[in-house]
Amino acid sequence: MQPHTRPTELTAGSSRFVRKYLYGIFLIFCLVVLSVFWGFSYKAGELIENQLHQQGVAFFQEVVIARKWAANHGGVYVKMGPGVKTNPYLLKIPGLKVVVTDQEGDRYTLKNPALMTREMSELAVEMGLFRFKITSLKPLNPQNAPGPFERTALARFEQGAKEYFDYEQHGNEVLYRYMAPLVTEKPCLKCHGSQGYRIGDIRGGISVSIMAGDMMKQLKRNNFLLFLSAAGIVAILFALIYFISHVFIKDLKSAEQMLVEMASRDFLTGLFNRREMFARLEAEVSRTDRQGAPLSIIMFDIDHFKKLNDTYGHDMGDDVLKELSARLLQTVRHYDIPCRYGGEEFLVVAPDTTSKAAGILAERLRGMALDMMLPYGTEGQEVRISISAGVAERIAGEPVKKTISRADAALYRAKEGGRNRVETA
Ligand code: GH3
Ligand code: MG
Ligand code: MG
Repeated sequence: MQPHTRPTELTAGSSRFVRKYLYGIFLIFCLVVLSVFWGFSYKAGELIENQLHQQGVAFFQEVVIARKWAANHGGVYVKMGPGVKTNPYLLKIPGLKVVVTDQEGDRYTLKNPALMTREMSELAVEMGLFRFKITSLKPLNPQNAPGPFERTALARFEQGAKEYFDYEQHGNEVLYRYMAPLVTEKPCLKCHGSQGYRIGDIRGGISVSIMAGDMMKQLKRNNFLLFLSAAGIVAILFALIYFISHVFIKDLKSAEQMLVEMASRDFLTGLFNRREMFARLEAEVSRTDRQGAPLSIIMFDIDHFKKLNDTYGHDMGDDVLKELSARLLQTVRHYDIPCRYGGEEFLVVAPDTTSKAAGILAERLRGMALDMMLPYGTEGQEVRISISAGVAERIAGEPVKKTISRADAALYRAKEGGRNRVETA
């Protein structure tokens, strides 16, 4: 069989298509992976924020309960001693017993809920726990004046918000700040009545600060790990798609190659078919025309093949065609183009060959056919054949079909002349 086959544009086009298709799938998968991981990351952030929020609410409520207990009792008196201060703002409220003395002469000072909150907050800071602060837009104590966060929160409460929270950067520490309003209740009026508050008014609020740095670090690490996993999955996927596309394209190429072979070759003998021969012949004609080189056509046909079929059977006929084709390929030169032209008719395009040289080649083919014998039956019989050939050299400018028909006419003469012979046009 001829080793060379025509290169195909089909292969390059379809492998590009396969690559595009697979990389398209890859891109879609990447988007899916990224959105899934983004979703995980978003959810983790939300969970952490929820947790911080719940802590904020719980802290706030604990403080409110402690304050409420104190307010319900009109504040609490604590025994005065070192470090126990009297609230100077309470001294300004008429009729309020700020300092009392018991029968033994021990002195007690009144701690109102606001002061209690402040002192608890200071204690919490000393203990390294969360901080909280009571603030009001009209504070009795200037230390309770709102900071920027509290001011924003209080403004929101006046517009009806029930709570307010945000992150705040304090040096290296990230704080989660939560604030909810304090609503004026009856016991509050004792101290705050003079400020014009009525029951149900928003008097201020308590803000709590939770150290969120550790959680933020955890979140960042979590996001980093998620990113690594996503990148890992994408990389594995890419490698997989790359591998698959390679294998797939390789298979596709060989399948296409096979299709091209099948389209250009005769099924029974494996020789080029007529279509392929004409394509190659055209190329050879234009080349030899350019170079002013000769080109000849040899047509040959098995003698009395019908009889052979009838005598030995169609299968033996097929075997003869196959064997003859195999020998033909071995006999022609590597630049000749042999093909199965019809049923038991063959054609050889002999480029750079005059009719004389082609005649010699045709004689070689005739000899090859005579040498051929195929065993038949069980008693050592053999099938032998002969061929008749017609040779024609292309005349400059002649259409190839014309050269072929001149070779065919020469073949006819060889048959007429008694077969097993070569005639030249
Ligand atoms: P001639 O010497 O004049 O060429 O006689 P012939 O019998 O060879 O010529 P003819 O053209 O009458 O017969 C050709 C036969 O070849 C007829 C057909 O059945 C047979 N044939 C064509 N193709 C095949 C094939 O693929 N396999 C087999 N077994 N026989 C085939
Ligand atoms: Mg024949
Ligand atoms: Mg024939």
